[in-house]
Amino acid sequence: MSRLPVMSSKRVLTSSSSSSENAQDFVPAQKRSRKDPEPHKPQAAATVIGGRRPPAAAARAPLSRSVRGAGAATVAVGPSRGVLKTSVASTAAKAGNMKQPFGSTVSKTGGTGASRRHAWDLRGKVSDMEDKIRDYKTTFKSVNQENEVLKGSMVQNQTKVVEMQKELERQRSQISKYEEELQTLSGVRDELEKVSSDRSVLQKELSNFEVKYKVMETLRDSHEMELQTLKMKLSVQESTLARLQATLRETEEEVRCLRDTVSQLKDDLHAGEMERRQLHNTIQELKGNIRVFCRVRPLVDGGLSKHIQLAASDNKTVTLAKTEESHTGKSVDTQKNYNFSFDRVFGPQALQQEVFEEISLLVQSALDGFNVCCFAYGQTGSGKTYTMEGDEFDETRGVIPRAVQQIFKAAEKLGAQGWEFTFTASFVEIYNETLRDLLYTGKASKRPEHEIRKLTNNEVTITNLTYEKVCNEDQVLGLIALANRNRSTAQTAQNDRSSRSHSVFQLDIEGVNAGRDAKCKSTLCLVDLAGSERMVKSQSQGERFKEMTAINGSLSNLGIVIAALANKESHVPYRNSKLTYLLQACLGGNSKTLMFVNIAPEPDSFGETLNSLRFASKVNDCVIGTASANRK
Ligand code: ADP
Ligand code: MG
Repeated sequence: MSRLPVMSSKRVLTSSSSSSENAQDFVPAQKRSRKDPEPHKPQAAATVIGGRRPPAAAARAPLSRSVRGAGAATVAVGPSRGVLKTSVASTAAKAGNMKQPFGSTVSKTGGTGASRRHAWDLRGKVSDMEDKIRDYKTTFKSVNQENEVLKGSMVQNQTKVVEMQKELERQRSQISKYEEELQTLSGVRDELEKVSSDRSVLQKELSNFEVKYKVMETLRDSHEMELQTLKMKLSVQESTLARLQATLRETEEEVRCLRDTVSQLKDDLHAGEMERRQLHNTIQELKGNIRVFCRVRPLVDGGLSKHIQLAASDNKTVTLAKTEESHTGKSVDTQKNYNFSFDRVFGPQALQQEVFEEISLLVQSALDGFNVCCFAYGQTGSGKTYTMEGDEFDETRGVIPRAVQQIFKAAEKLGAQGWEFTFTASFVEIYNETLRDLLYTGKASKRPEHEIRKLTNNEVTITNLTYEKVCNEDQVLGLIALANRNRSTAQTAQNDRSSRSHSVFQLDIEGVNAGRDAKCKSTLCLVDLAGSERMVKSQSQGERFKEMTAINGSLSNLGIVIAALANKESHVPYRNSKLTYLLQACLGGNSKTLMFVNIAPEPDSFGETLNSLRFASKVNDCVIGTASANRK
């Protein structure tokens, strides 16, 4: 009995899915037990049971309540025969609302106080019991049915569960598929993200390219503009070019004509040059192949002392005046004049430039292929070195640097006419009749000895001497400086060697004009002679005596050689001294010789000055004699 409410509750749980079914299941049972044509109409049952109309409230109540209420009402008012009615009501209640507990009907029936039969009413009680049993049976049946239904439903549900499990499996496999797909999709998503980042990069690049493209477009536009301008210019240039080409053709024609003219002129020029050389040489010869210039050194404080007088009218004479005291003392002092005339006399004011102008003609002769020799003669301190080398400043530069400058300039000019020159310089010192190389750069202990050799072509050369090829003025100046250093190492304060030795600078000049098949070869000699002062008795011994003897010997021999040359004597004693032997090629033949006689103005140098002038005069006289003879 205690299971009933549970079962009913179960039915309630399943009723949602099969309430209509269950309702139909109950119907035949009610029909069989009570043969009630309208089991679903409790109101009608109530009508049958009570035989009266139900109260209005009951009639108006909802169906479930009305069934219960009607049942209760029926039991309460009904006679003992009303058991069936209760059962029907109970069934109805079951049909209407299964929540109603089964026993409640009985308790309610009895609850009115009329449910208990009288003790004597056994038949009634039996009947009640039978009713109850019937009810229970019915209920049992219906519960069984219900159970069957539920079983069926359970089977159905199990089938459904199986199906649902299958479905679940399917769903799971579906889900795993989906998960796989999801994974694939996440890969795809990553790819997509990558692609999208790539795309953004590409978009940036694209935008960059767009910017660049715009810039390029702008550039292109400007270039197109430029191109247009250039095209215009080009067309202008083309027309100009055409004009110029026409002009060029004309000019080329002109150039051809001019070339012919130029080559003609070159021929003329060369002829002119050769003629000039001849004429120049003729002039030089007329002036005398041996010339003597006198140069008077200024006094240390400037000016000139009284005993040397230079003629105001010309620049060729010099007078040396000596006042001699009267021996008796009664007569007035007498003055003795020594007159000398030379090719040119330079006073104390004469500038280095002026002096050089006279020599430059001879330098030109050297370039023209004639040997030239220039000496400076005079006592120590008379200005020989000043004349030949001068000072380092431009204004006071002497003959050697100026001659070198002129030669290189002239060679450059002649280069335009096809002449090519090579120059070789040497610098030698003759001391005590020994030769010393002033361009020597080796060790002093290994200084070689030198000898003068005369070659078969009459050229003179010195063994072991430094012959330096030079091609510009600076190189020569460098060599002169080297020579000066070499000379100063050889001298001491007590031994002023430079004044007691001859220094000979030689520049060998060789010119070739390949186009004209012309050649020329010459030597320019520039000599700073040793001091010409005579020996003083106190010095006439030892080394000094030897020096003086060597100097006097070589200087007097020089005079003799020049005189012999001037007199065209058959024998010229070149070999008598190293100086003349070395210079023989530059002294004879067509050579030009120039002697400077340098004189000191101091009164105490009178004697030496007179000697120098006499020596120079002797040379000059010979020359004048020769010149006169030539003129005849
Ligand atoms: P030398 O070589 O004959 O012994 P220098 O040439 O050494 O004589 O001259 C002696 C000094 O006189 C030097 O100081 C020199 O500068 C100077 N001297 C020589 N001649 C002149 C001159 N014409 N004008 C100015 N100074 C001169
Ligand atoms: Mg000197």
